[in-house]
Amino acid sequence: MIKVTCPYCGQRAKYVDSKVVYGRSYGMIYLCSDCDAYVGVHKGTDKPLGRLADKELRYWKMAAHDAFDPLWKTKKMKRNQAYKWLAGRMGLSTRETHIGMFDVSQCKKVIKICENSKGEFNNGKARTKNK
Ligand SMILES: [Zn+2]
Repeated sequence: MIKVTCPYCGQRAKYVDSKVVYGRSYGMIYLCSDCDAYVGVHKGTDKPLGRLADKELRYWKMAAHDAFDPLWKTKKMKRNQAYKWLAGRMGLSTRETHIGMFDVSQCKKVIKICENSKGEFNNGKARTKNK
């Protein structure tokens, strides 16, 4: 297993089965029980998906996905195009642009960016909205 440290307290995270937090097993996770922070791993590996997330960050990551995922799930653009676009807006490289790696303020930024650009993606489909 890989040495993963908790970004909140700096202790080494434990590599445990996810049933500790979910009640049933979804594979392994890295967990800091002191901070109630954890992260899953890439399937079939012991590589963490991102940084350990505490309750607040888990909430914001979910919210960021809710705002961002529809961009590519609705086929307005391909997934990698959507990430490239987001990277540009965030001022990051595409390699750095993974919601799993973001902190709370970056997740909030994603939500704002997506909300502010809704219009861009509805071009062509020009929805008529009465105010
Ligand atoms: Zn910790």
